[in-house]
Amino acid sequence: MPLLLASVDGAAAMIAKPPPELSEAFWRLAMKRRYATMFLGGQLACWLAIHDPLKRPCKGKWEAAHFIGRQSIRNCPTLHGLDPELLALASWDPRNGIPACVEHHRRFDNHADAGPGSAILVPRETLDEDLEEFIADWGLESEAERRFPGT
Ligand SMILES: [Zn+2]
Repeated sequence: MPLLLASVDGAAAMIAKPPPELSEAFWRLAMKRRYATMFLGGQLACWLAIHDPLKRPCKGKWEAAHFIGRQSIRNCPTLHGLDPELLALASWDPRNGIPACVEHHRRFDNHADAGPGSAILVPRETLDEDLEEFIADWGLESEAERRFPGT
């Protein structure tokens, strides 16, 4: 049984809903990272809020966000042509999961559209070891560097 759901074309297959066992494992590890969160202004802040230069408050429920986005993984030259089932494993590797509120998750994913001084930039030295291993194991260094401009 294929890991990816049937879709109209190959591109759509890559963003199809993952099998439950992959998305559940992804969610579980992301939520384990909540220990890294802290209180900002008297409120519990998500993993991304800590790095928000505008100190916007968290809004909405907490979600398991992709640190390296699924589209970036899919388009990464080092993974080009990878078997779709392996690509699904890369896309839902639990080590790439971070806990984020809806507000900061959306702002982080729209990084390229953020105005000057408002983009959420996560300092490389704050990444957990397993997230660094995820980046190394799948050859995503160039994508990781896009998340850390100027470092
Ligand atoms: Zn937040």
